[in-house]
Amino acid sequence: MTDPIRHRARLVLRRLKRRYPEIGTALDYQNPWELLVSTIISAQTTDENVNAVAPALFARYPGPAALAGAKLEDVEQIIYSTGFFRQKSKSIVSMSADLMERYGGEVPDDLDDLVTLRGVGRKTASVVLAEAWGKPAIAVDTHVKRLSRRLELTEHADPTKIEMDLRALYDRRQWSGISMRFIQFGRDVCEARRPRCYECPLNDICPYPDKTPPPE
Ligand code: SF4
Repeated sequence: MTDPIRHRARLVLRRLKRRYPEIGTALDYQNPWELLVSTIISAQTTDENVNAVAPALFARYPGPAALAGAKLEDVEQIIYSTGFFRQKSKSIVSMSADLMERYGGEVPDDLDDLVTLRGVGRKTASVVLAEAWGKPAIAVDTHVKRLSRRLELTEHADPTKIEMDLRALYDRRQWSGISMRFIQFGRDVCEARRPRCYECPLNDICPYPDKTPPPE
């Protein structure tokens, strides 16, 4: 990793911290297990949609023991509106069963342990580590990937390789503050289809060659 990239990475995070001094997940949760469940359900939908179904889900199944024993059709009915409800129901029930079987119902605070749970990938595990446990972790979703590539903090497309590049660029203590800021900035300014480069506070340091010109 060359110094100009490191320098750019530093400026990016500094400016995003200025823009978003306090930031965390928009998912509502009371404990790490609820965040784990909600993060799984949040795939391909908005956090608002997840928050809309979460109270009913957690009222009916207040912990991993209850959800592990749930009937899939009942869970599907509750989370139906979030899309991909069959796969998501299977994932949260199996994940809860794994938790009961191997971790006594406690959500582990270690990446290698978390990814052994069915339905839990690196991205979900990293969200839970950073948000619920306050541990150093970088979750790479579609926004983090797009921003990291446009800002040339990585040249990779594979999320795990991007995560490794970001880990190498930033001090460990900063890791947990990266994803949520990149995600919010990706939603607000550096949108996928038409990034608002003309009003972007990173414009002067961003090497992206196809910047959007100001509207006429
Ligand atoms: S200048 Fe454009 S491409 Fe670069 S970070 Fe800003 S919005 Fe994204």
